[in-house]
Amino acid sequence: MESDTSKAAEHLLDWLRDAHAMEEQAETMLTSLAGRIETYPEVKQRIERHIVETREQQRLVRGCIERLGGDTSMFKDLTGKMMATFQAFSGVFASDEIMKGAMFSYAFENLEIAAYSQLVEAAKFVGDAETAAVCERILQEERAMAQWIEHNTPGLMRQFLMRADDPESQAKR
Ligand code: MG
Ligand code: FE
Repeated sequence: MESDTSKAAEHLLDWLRDAHAMEEQAETMLTSLAGRIETYPEVKQRIERHIVETREQQRLVRGCIERLGGDTSMFKDLTGKMMATFQAFSGVFASDEIMKGAMFSYAFENLEIAAYSQLVEAAKFVGDAETAAVCERILQEERAMAQWIEHNTPGLMRQFLMRADDPESQAKR
């Protein structure tokens, strides 16, 4: 197998770079979200846990890229591009900031699930068992985070709307 030069190996490396950029964006987004939350401590705590996971994911993906002989210097360029998208969807400064954050985060985790599902198959196709295992592990963490958001959104919505009608309490974040 000429995995060093095949198109499949090139695609795999490109997608790992995309995944790394995605994780850098995830860290920025989650850090911003957690830092702004004031009255939803459980949400803040879960996000902070996922920030730790996200940093480890970055390290693991970087390891795969380096093992495949990929260049890591272009990481920063890719990240900047996606920040505008984040600013537009995250709802920062909106009166329903916490709900927009939950919505965007759920969408983002599902984007990550889609990305790592594809990466697992690509790595298997190329015969890179280590990358497949790494992506499978990350996939489980993204699924767990997406499920947490899904299961906690109804309660969060009720809490938000209850607080929104209470002039004494801070609802938006
Ligand atoms: Mg991630
Ligand atoms: Fe994630």
